[in-house]
Amino acid sequence: MTTDQPFDRDQLSSEARDRRLVDEIERGAEEDRETATEKAPAETVGEVAARKGARQDGIEAAVRQILTEIGEAPEREGLLRTPERMYKMWLELTCGYRVDEDRLINGAIFDVGYSEMVVIKGIPFYSLCEHHMLPFFGSASVGYLPRGRVIGLSKIPRIVEMYARRLQVQERMTQQIADFLQSRLNPYGVGVVIEAEHLCLAMRGVQKGGATMVTSSVLGAFRTNKETRGEFMAHLERTVPRV
Ligand SMILES: [Zn+2]
Repeated sequence: MTTDQPFDRDQLSSEARDRRLVDEIERGAEEDRETATEKAPAETVGEVAARKGARQDGIEAAVRQILTEIGEAPEREGLLRTPERMYKMWLELTCGYRVDEDRLINGAIFDVGYSEMVVIKGIPFYSLCEHHMLPFFGSASVGYLPRGRVIGLSKIPRIVEMYARRLQVQERMTQQIADFLQSRLNPYGVGVVIEAEHLCLAMRGVQKGGATMVTSSVLGAFRTNKETRGEFMAHLERTVPRV
C-alpha cells in the first residue's frame, strides 16, 4: 500500500477510512502505518463486522427519522444517500474518541537540556459543540516550559485534533489539551489558548455571526509566574512572517 498519495475518501470503506484517520492522528500521515490495519482486535472478525453494521444501521435509521420528523421525505432522490453520508461523516468527525493516547505519544518524548519556552500557535481545528452538535472552529495555541523533556513538534497539532474530533465544549477542550501535556511531559507549566467561532451562536436565534470565543488554560508556572505568562502572551501577539 502506498502511503504517499492522498487517499480517495469515497473509495475506502467507512471503517477503513475511520481507522486511517485515527492512524493519521496517532502517527502522522507521513509515517508508515501498515501494521495498524493488521492489528487483530479481541473480537472475532464476524463480531466486529456485526457490531459495526449495527452502528451504521442505527445511525442511518436515526437520520431517516429526523428527516421525517422535520417534514422531509427521506426517500426523495436528493436525500436517498444522506443517512449513509451522515454515518460516514459522524465517524470521521468523532474519530478522536478512538485515538489511542499512548500510540499518539509513542516515541516522541525526548529528554533534552532545553528549558526555554516552546510555543506552537495558530493550530487550526474543527470541532462540534456537544449542546447542538454544530461546528465550532478556530485555532489553538499551545506553550509549555520544559523540565528536561520535550515532545515532537508534529504531535501537538495531533493532540489538538484528538480532542477536537469529539463532541466538545470549548472550555473543556482547552483544559484537556493542557492537562494532557502537563501529565505526559511534567513541564514547569503549560498554557493553551483557543479562539473559536461557534455556528450554534451564529446560526441560531439572535444573529451573532463573527463573534469569537476565547478560552485559556494555564497550569504551573503559566499560572503562578507573571513573567512566564507574560512571555507566553507576548508570543501569541507576535505575528510570524510567512515564508
Ligand atoms: Zn452549541
